[in-house]
Amino acid sequence: MYDNEAEVLEIKIIIKDEGIDTILDKFKLDGKIAIVTGCRTGLGQGMALALAEAGADIVGVGDRDMEETRALVQKLGRKFVGVQANLMKMESIPMVVDAAIGSFEKIDILINNAGIIRREDAVNFSEKDWDDVININLKVLFFLSQAVAKKFIEQKTGGKIVNIASMLSFQGGIRVPSYTASKSGVMGITRLMANEWAKYNINVNAIAPGYMATNNTAALREDKSRSSEILDRIPAGRWGLPEDVKGPAVFLSSSASDYVNGYTIAVDGGWLAR
Ligand code: NAD
Repeated sequence: MYDNEAEVLEIKIIIKDEGIDTILDKFKLDGKIAIVTGCRTGLGQGMALALAEAGADIVGVGDRDMEETRALVQKLGRKFVGVQANLMKMESIPMVVDAAIGSFEKIDILINNAGIIRREDAVNFSEKDWDDVININLKVLFFLSQAVAKKFIEQKTGGKIVNIASMLSFQGGIRVPSYTASKSGVMGITRLMANEWAKYNINVNAIAPGYMATNNTAALREDKSRSSEILDRIPAGRWGLPEDVKGPAVFLSSSASDYVNGYTIAVDGGWLAR
């Protein structure tokens, strides 16, 4: 495209002098405040570290202490505020929002990652296993998003919401009825929130992890025949890792994705492509 090196150099100098952002600058999260739910372990811990590496301070939410995540975030030179709360309950929502505003006076990013799964044949599935999973994976995810979106609107800053969906947002699954219902709901509600809030510069998107080696899949990985059936179907030939969701999480939390609204990105080693 350019005739010679001098011309390329001149363009680079203009970009630098005028302080024009390059594409990599758009991924930076310096000065941003991110709430990450369920960041004690697994994918949530991976995403909290990813956002911290990109420059954000973290408000971590979990049902137990998050000391390992706190230490890792602080090692990166970022701040970490931990909120111990049961995200199955609606009462946790003001605790989370107040802690973020109380500590940092604003919120820029919400990662709705906390989630649970219960396994039982559909004919025997209990109401408790239905309600617990729906409450944390879908109901509190929606109402926490609503509370944070109100802050984004009040702040007039816009913001980013990233929901964690699943392969079972696309497929039926086996022996996990409330999980399938909740994660199918997450993909739908992601689109609805994106539609209503895009006008406030709020981007709502989701990440659908494939089969990842975390606590969530411990039982599956222990079952030798299910485990090898799953592995045989993954084109990438391996289970995913928390590391694999770091790039998509930073992308969807940053201004690099400002024109991405209501989309669910599969991070699945090709599972859905089969
Ligand atoms: P995980 O069990 O390691 O993480 C779940 C996190 O949620 C934990 O940190 C836990 O402390 C927190 N949590 C659980 N109950 C809570 C409660 N009542 N209140 C507050 N926090 C609570 O497993 P993971 O795989 O990292 O799961 C993270 C998300 O990714 C979940 O939404 C899960 O459904 C989703 N997901 C996982 C996979 C996978 O293969 N591992 C695939 C698709 C989607």
